[in-house]
Amino acid sequence: MMSDPVRVRFAPSPTGLLHIGGLRTALYNYLLARQTGGTFALRIEDTDRSRFVETAEQDILDGLSWAGLGVDEGPTQGGDAGPYRQSERRDLYADAAQRLLDAGAAYIAFDTPDEIEAMKERHRSDANPSPRYGHSTRDEMATSLVLEADEVARRIEAGDEHVVRLKVDPGETLTFTDRVRGEVSFDTIEVDDQVLVKSDGMPTYHLANVVDDHEMGITDVIRGEEWLSSVPKHLLMYRALGWTPPRLAHLPLIMSPTGGKLSKRSADRLGIPVSVSQYVEAGYEPEAVVNFLALLGWNPGTEQEIFDLEGLVQAFDVERIGKSGVQFSLDKLDWFNGQHLRALDPEDLARRARPALEDAVGPVEDGKLVEVASLMRERLTKASDLADAAYFFVAPESYDEKGLKKRWKDDSADLVAAYADALEAEDAFTIESTEATMRALAEAREAGFGRIIHPVRLAATGTTAGAGMFETLVLIGRDETTQRLRRAAEVLGQSVAVRRPTER
Ligand code: GLU
Repeated sequence: MMSDPVRVRFAPSPTGLLHIGGLRTALYNYLLARQTGGTFALRIEDTDRSRFVETAEQDILDGLSWAGLGVDEGPTQGGDAGPYRQSERRDLYADAAQRLLDAGAAYIAFDTPDEIEAMKERHRSDANPSPRYGHSTRDEMATSLVLEADEVARRIEAGDEHVVRLKVDPGETLTFTDRVRGEVSFDTIEVDDQVLVKSDGMPTYHLANVVDDHEMGITDVIRGEEWLSSVPKHLLMYRALGWTPPRLAHLPLIMSPTGGKLSKRSADRLGIPVSVSQYVEAGYEPEAVVNFLALLGWNPGTEQEIFDLEGLVQAFDVERIGKSGVQFSLDKLDWFNGQHLRALDPEDLARRARPALEDAVGPVEDGKLVEVASLMRERLTKASDLADAAYFFVAPESYDEKGLKKRWKDDSADLVAAYADALEAEDAFTIESTEATMRALAEAREAGFGRIIHPVRLAATGTTAGAGMFETLVLIGRDETTQRLRRAAEVLGQSVAVRRPTER
């Protein structure tokens, strides 16, 4: 079912690195925009100057572009609803604040932090451990609700610091439909008189967010659950300003594998990357992270798990976003990563694996790298794991200790050397011929096949695991293989014989 084109926005505050929860929010907005042929805007909510981080905006842009989420309108993309940084839209907020004051939906407050603290102290009790600035306390404060109009004007004139607060009156139930949670109600008695304009003249998140969602024609807001409790304040502003609020959808919390919300601290403790740049550094593929995040809170209602971005655009459905917290699992992400690697062309996989591999072995030749990538792709969790298969390009410098203990027997050096001789005498050196040669040798020596193949793998690769043995040997090449086998026979034949007596 195709709905009308939406206008959605991703509205991060540039206070640090883009984190994984933020990318999920961006993704869901993006999917809805693409699905409806709508618009995905980026709005930088930079009104809190004390938490502003200069490099954050670039990090956000980098993260979105890494994930493949193209932005239609934004600070660097431009667009008709700009500017897209809140710090450049201050006049709009000042106008809205004045309209709220004129309508009696907001008031001016002159209290100093000490006076506010003293008020809270007066009201603090066991039943009310954190008193609020609101309908039950505001009459005690220095506000335009209490002071005479000329006194208010005089104090503003004199440069007295002041803020603008939302006037929330008790006795009303505000109800709205959240597309994830269904009908949600708040009693205004629970809502405090939120500061809308700070003493430095900057709007708070609440005012700027409402003004911009309206001014930018945002039809749908999809954001984290932590913003749900702000909705009643926003609804009061929309009403007082005579505006229609956008449709709302609040995403479920991302939970730690050990329970509780996945905070930066709990993630650090569990070794879970938090910022998108950490996922990039850790070698995750953007397709896998996107697929994983899509299913972290949404389900397609089918068994299908593997999606590319286009598939997600088709399948995504806001109504299928879950309400309850979703558990983060790095194992699951690893699984997605492996699955997406498998789906890549060998050329693409080779391109992604090249940097890690070249770090390990120096420059590698294109054609061979593609062959290795295609042979190994079933076994990779990350593209960089291909660096563990450096033996396709360079001879092993050492041999897996445990493997030697288990697999290298008294006759291994002899069998491995004999196999090298037989390979040299072969005509073809193909997957089939190298296997036939090993079988013939096993028969001639009356040795089990395993008695040869395991030592040969150790000798040729230094490891005990890998792709098919004969595919591997053919890729390593005949001369290189026979050299490695002979060298191992020489080095290991002795060392194991020497070590053996002391092992007991
Ligand atoms: N600036 C808020 C944030 O950092 C935006 C919340 C919203 O989408 O309304 O998440």
